[in-house]
Amino acid sequence: MLYIVPTPIGNLGDITHRAIEVLSAADIILAEDTRTSRRLLDRYNITTPLRAYHAFNEHQATAAIIDLLKEGKTLALVSDAGTPGISDPGFLLVRACREANEEIVVLPGPTAFVPALVGSGFPCDRFYFEGFLPHKKGRTTRWKHLATLTNTIVLYESPYRLIKCLEEILEYLGDDRKVCVVREISKIHEQYHFGSASGLLKEFEAHPDKIKGEMVVIISAV
Ligand code: SAM
Repeated sequence: MLYIVPTPIGNLGDITHRAIEVLSAADIILAEDTRTSRRLLDRYNITTPLRAYHAFNEHQATAAIIDLLKEGKTLALVSDAGTPGISDPGFLLVRACREANEEIVVLPGPTAFVPALVGSGFPCDRFYFEGFLPHKKGRTTRWKHLATLTNTIVLYESPYRLIKCLEEILEYLGDDRKVCVVREISKIHEQYHFGSASGLLKEFEAHPDKIKGEMVVIISAV
C-alpha cells in the first residue's frame, strides 16, 4: 500500500491526525528532502525510516519502490511541503502503482493553491491551475495559451521572477485583469496583495522588501 501524505506549507499545526498516524505506521517514508522531513517527523516523535525520493532519482527509484510494495511493505510519500504530485514529485510513482495494480491512498491535506484561490475572492467555481511556468523555453507559448482562457488562473511563482511574471501578465493578458499575489500562506507574515498588473508592479518596485517568501499568483478572468 502506498500512501500519499500532504504536509504543512508553513504552519505545522496544519498536519492532520491521519497523516501522523499513517507516517508513524509506515515501513518507510519516501521524502523529497530527508532533512526537511526529519524535522517534521521529530516534532511528532515519528521514527519511521526515511528514504530519498526526489526529482533527480524518481525515474530510477520508481521500479524499486514498486518491488517493495509487491513485498507487502507500507510506504508513505511526502514532499517538502503540501501535497506530493502538485508541482512536486509524485505523479510518476502514482502512475507506476496504478499500472502495477498496487493500492494507493491519497490523504486530503495542505496544498498552497486552494487557500490562495479561495482567499483571492476571484471566481473559483472553475479555475485553471498552471503551476510553475517554464523559466525560459516554452514560457511565451504558455502565456499565449493562458491569454485564451476565460477562467481564473493559478500560478506558482518564485520571488525572483515575480516582477517578470507581472510584466508578462501586462504584456500577454493586458491590464484589465485583477491580480492577487498571496504570500506566505499559513505563516505569520501571510499577506494578500491585490491590484492590476501595473498597480502591483508599482507596489512591488516601490517595496522590494515585500518580494519575498513563497507566493501564489491568481489572475482573474477577463
Ligand atoms: N506541493 C506543494 C503544494 O501542494 O502546494 C507545492 C510545492 S511547489 C515546489 C512550491 C510552491 O508552492 C512555491 O514556490 C509557492 O508558489 C507555493 N507555495 C508553497 N507554500 C506556500 C506558502 N506557504 N505560501 C504561498 N505559496 C506557497
